[in-house]
Amino acid sequence: MNESSFIANGGNFKFPDKANVRPERLFFRLPLDRINWLTSSFLIGTLALTLTAVPLYLWFFGLDWFQVVLFFAMLAACGFSVTLGYHRLFSHITFQASWPIRLFTLIFGAGAFENSVLMWASEHRRHHKHVDHDDDPYCISKGFFYAHIGWLLFKLDNDQPYDNVADLQKDKLVCWQDRYVQWIAVLVSFGIPGILGFLWNGWQGALGAFLIAGVARIVVLQHCTFFINSACHTIGRQPYSTRCSARDSFLLALFTMGEGYHNYHHEFQHDYRNGVKPWQFDPTKWLIWTLSKLRLVRNLRRVPADKIESAQRQTRNASC
Ligand SMILES: [Zn+2]
Ligand SMILES: [Zn+2]
Repeated sequence: MNESSFIANGGNFKFPDKANVRPERLFFRLPLDRINWLTSSFLIGTLALTLTAVPLYLWFFGLDWFQVVLFFAMLAACGFSVTLGYHRLFSHITFQASWPIRLFTLIFGAGAFENSVLMWASEHRRHHKHVDHDDDPYCISKGFFYAHIGWLLFKLDNDQPYDNVADLQKDKLVCWQDRYVQWIAVLVSFGIPGILGFLWNGWQGALGAFLIAGVARIVVLQHCTFFINSACHTIGRQPYSTRCSARDSFLLALFTMGEGYHNYHHEFQHDYRNGVKPWQFDPTKWLIWTLSKLRLVRNLRRVPADKIESAQRQTRNASC
């Protein structure tokens, strides 16, 4: 893969017919014509605010326990909505969930500003199907930066059709979220922290909550998600398969609510567990199991132990 092939194919990295290559405007080797200005402005703007306005707020007003608790509560609500809801429930159907769980994860998942479940799941299913190849939306073969955030900065809105999420389109709650996702995202991410902050400490509390539990939390959560696409395909071990670049990493699992066991996940994507061993740090797995005991979710899918051991044995033997 090289840059000219990327540019000539509108970001698809297919080797082009040389006659069809058209000159493209470049800035620091970046394809200017493909920049998604709305997404890029949001990603760069929230990062800039986190690095400037948040430290300034802390300098002038300090940090109280309320802001810390609100930050982590919002991080957990939106984070688990992505890992448990967007990923393991809607994208992979690794269990079935009652409507309150579906509604909660759709509302707070929108607060992660990672678009609607329909788009997220469509892209993620494409990632699993074409992993490491041209049609993988966040293909690591195109580089760490591209897999992490570049694919979003240069992604055009109508890039791919929703042709692999027909099952999800039958869910009325999913369709409702897809329609109003930007409004829900703004209300959840900025409205809820802003109101709670105001009730706690007037305008000063509202500003702190907007910046810390709103903006900074979005940046932290988004980059933790992005690391699954970039670092989890670069760093770690491959105990279950070497067929693709996905890797298991305890360190990354710590920052991704258990999604760091990505080698297992790519090999057995329909298992509700990513950290399949009982001792592996996978809070999303523990939460799904707890919700099943409360009868809020059911039909948890597990790969039989002998099949997992066989995959491990084969991978070990192949590397000897
Ligand atoms: Zn997945
Ligand atoms: Zn992956």
